[in-house]
Amino acid sequence: MSGPQIGVLALQGDVREHLAALRAVGADPVPVRRRPELDAVDALLIPGGESTTISHLLRELELVEPLRARLAEGMPAYGSCAGMILLASEIIDAGVPGRAAIPLSGIDMAVRRNAFGRQVNSFEGDLDFDGLAQPVHAVFIRAPWVERVGDGVQVLAQAAGHPVAVRQGSVLATSFHPEVTGDRRVHGLFVDIVTGAA
Ligand code: GLN
Repeated sequence: MSGPQIGVLALQGDVREHLAALRAVGADPVPVRRRPELDAVDALLIPGGESTTISHLLRELELVEPLRARLAEGMPAYGSCAGMILLASEIIDAGVPGRAAIPLSGIDMAVRRNAFGRQVNSFEGDLDFDGLAQPVHAVFIRAPWVERVGDGVQVLAQAAGHPVAVRQGSVLATSFHPEVTGDRRVHGLFVDIVTGAA
């Protein structure tokens, strides 16, 4: 593809599933593990997994400040679940000091980690999603929710009275995992954001 190059942060979590989902909507994504790979992409997807583990690896690989800088410069991004947590400007219940999840400030929002409860409380449901004609079947796995959004943040979907899909400019975040359902519309929306079509 000669369009913008999308990267998938490939430190931990649902990396392969997101690479496959992006390919299914016509993108040609590359895994990102190192600084030169981050520098080379035009947009970045941050997968679900464990936000404290991904944060630990970001620190070890000295990717925290480069990633913050790219987001501050307006790099399009999409974060799912742990990725949503990392894209927040504030994280509630971020984890123990020194091992906590790091807010990269892609979206002006406060996100509560593990808001829906522990693994056993994971659930699924059909959600209305602003801009999509049919509801999205959303799978939540120890998912965060959004507790505060700043001006300019669009709420695209809600569950349990809280935003679970948001967009600010060209940065998108969902509490749930569209990569596990076979419904590619959220990945399609991200690609449209990256190419300027949405
Ligand atoms: N609870 C996890 C975290 O804090 C997120 C879970 C997920 O990404 N499925 O990062």
